[in-house]
Amino acid sequence: MSKEFNHIRAWHELAKPAVENFNEKQKEVISELIPLIGELHQQGKDLTIPISPAMWEIIERLDTIEAAQLSQAIYMYGHWYPGKGPRIYPSQNGEMWKISNIMDQLLRKRLGFPKSRLEIHEGKFRVTFSNKNNWIWKEFALATEKNLEAFETCNLPFGQDSLEKNATILKKRINDIWDTDQFMDHKEGTNPDDDELKDIFSSILSSEFTVVKVTNVNYDPHIPVVGIKAMKHSTSGIIGGDAPCEQCGQRIDSHTSQKVIILKFKKEPEGEKPEFTEVQKELLKSIDELMKLHKLDGIAFTK
Ligand SMILES: [Zn+2]
Repeated sequence: MSKEFNHIRAWHELAKPAVENFNEKQKEVISELIPLIGELHQQGKDLTIPISPAMWEIIERLDTIEAAQLSQAIYMYGHWYPGKGPRIYPSQNGEMWKISNIMDQLLRKRLGFPKSRLEIHEGKFRVTFSNKNNWIWKEFALATEKNLEAFETCNLPFGQDSLEKNATILKKRINDIWDTDQFMDHKEGTNPDDDELKDIFSSILSSEFTVVKVTNVNYDPHIPVVGIKAMKHSTSGIIGGDAPCEQCGQRIDSHTSQKVIILKFKKEPEGEKPEFTEVQKELLKSIDELMKLHKLDGIAFTK
């Protein structure tokens, strides 16, 4: 994997502004809770922070949506913190996740939990599926009355094979929890993989061409096969180019291939001898440097 979650960017772009933009009621609740929770620890089999009557009095001031937003944001504010830089709520004893844990308990109480198939964590609903071999779950919305109703009336199945897909549909339909996919960044010091190259070239060429894929072709003598021989060759656990191919015994790096971008015309050119339009020529010329940079050998067209 050459992509990884960029928690530093997510903290600065999502968590920090969300926490700084809490309303006055939310800010008050946090300020009043912090001195009360430092020494508290999770208890019981459901791993909750014990809530005293005084604490209930403080948190009951929030309505459900305020509590859910607070739980989501404060949890990530602590979890993604890059380790340096000023914070409005410095956390020494896990105060951020403790507040989130307390908010989740408030939400569970308000929304009549426990319920089958649903859980609340970090201010969000998770739909779950389990049988004796599997336990899967996916978040889909903030834990509010309105979203509970949306879940209960959605008529979507959430079985072993449908949970992921339908939770994603519901998540998009409701659209009120953070989209963290946008913080999957290219990892420094690694090269983009073929899928990432496909995205890079798509973003440039998409007006005229569909990038079908970026792939290796013309293997000589064949695709190198990494197997037992290569494993035995390696002393460090890292298989290098000097390890032998399972199929022919030659060094892996003596096997060659070319990497190409496979394109399709958006609109198939007409005529006996189709020619590129000027716009298409310019576009293809414009990726020349980028192809060299990523060591691509050529472009191929497919129907
Ligand atoms: Zn070979």
